[in-house]
Amino acid sequence: MTATIFDIKRYAINDGPGIRITLFFKGCPLSCLWCHNPEGISPRKEKLYTRKKCLGCQLCVEKCPENALTFTSEGILTDPAKCTVCGICADHCPSLAMQLSGEEYTIDRLMQEIEKETLVMDRSEGGVTFSGGEPFMQPKALLELLRRCGKRGIHRTIDTTLFVKPDILQEAIPETDLFLVDLKQMDSSKHQYFCGTSNERILQNIRLLASSKAKYIIRIPLIEGVNADKENIEETAAFLATLNRKPQYVDLLPYHDIGRSKHDKRGSTYNPTNINMQAPSEEKLARCRELFEKHGIAVHIGG
Ligand code: SF4
Ligand code: SF4
Repeated sequence: MTATIFDIKRYAINDGPGIRITLFFKGCPLSCLWCHNPEGISPRKEKLYTRKKCLGCQLCVEKCPENALTFTSEGILTDPAKCTVCGICADHCPSLAMQLSGEEYTIDRLMQEIEKETLVMDRSEGGVTFSGGEPFMQPKALLELLRRCGKRGIHRTIDTTLFVKPDILQEAIPETDLFLVDLKQMDSSKHQYFCGTSNERILQNIRLLASSKAKYIIRIPLIEGVNADKENIEETAAFLATLNRKPQYVDLLPYHDIGRSKHDKRGSTYNPTNINMQAPSEEKLARCRELFEKHGIAVHIGG
């Protein structure tokens, strides 16, 4: 069994308790306009190019077996009709300007990567976080990793959209120590517009989590122009307040546009419909905090 992973981050401190190793699974059913990891959306491998790192040596052009690359005054251009994403250009690039995103790992190999961090995880009460993309897009690999980490006593966090079939979620719950759940918009048609899917399945799965013994935290990317309006925040707080068990807390994550440079690397466009997305003001953050706290829900404000 294999998993397609597009990044492995060591010494992560924002992906759950302690110091963690985070595995980023390729493929996501959502496509949020502000996505921080757009290279994680497609389940397939893809080629990335960073013009600022390019030396202009043209080794990639020389080595490409498909003649898919052209050197221009704008840097290297790729003909997507010819490129087979074989990765040969990336293998020969001396400056990592050309890179391949997405690598197949066996579960044994991923376990070896995780176990290299045992000392750091043990000393910091950290663990492993499965992120993405959406880790539930590769359910067999995810469940196998959860079970094997569980046997080794490693703390397991899943960072998820919860856009997953409920039976798969049910299987994962007893094997997971903490869920970090994104909740972006309560209005389903707006969710469809900003994130590419409706939200009914996500809300249903949050109810399911809250009816189980699972520990969970709700993470809300707070974005003016998308979801920071009073109506949406009130509706979110009211929804969470009615659950069987409330989340440990709500993590409010003010908007920033770090996904923009990654779109440049992929040759795709950030925020193609040009929505005016802004970070909320300090006053707005304080008002949102108040609204959740009024419903008895603790709030953290993340970075
Ligand atoms: S990934 Fe392969 S086919 Fe595509 S540009 Fe690079 S060397 Fe050519
Ligand atoms: S091999 Fe790398 S550095 Fe050289 S031209 Fe290609 S992308 Fe640029």
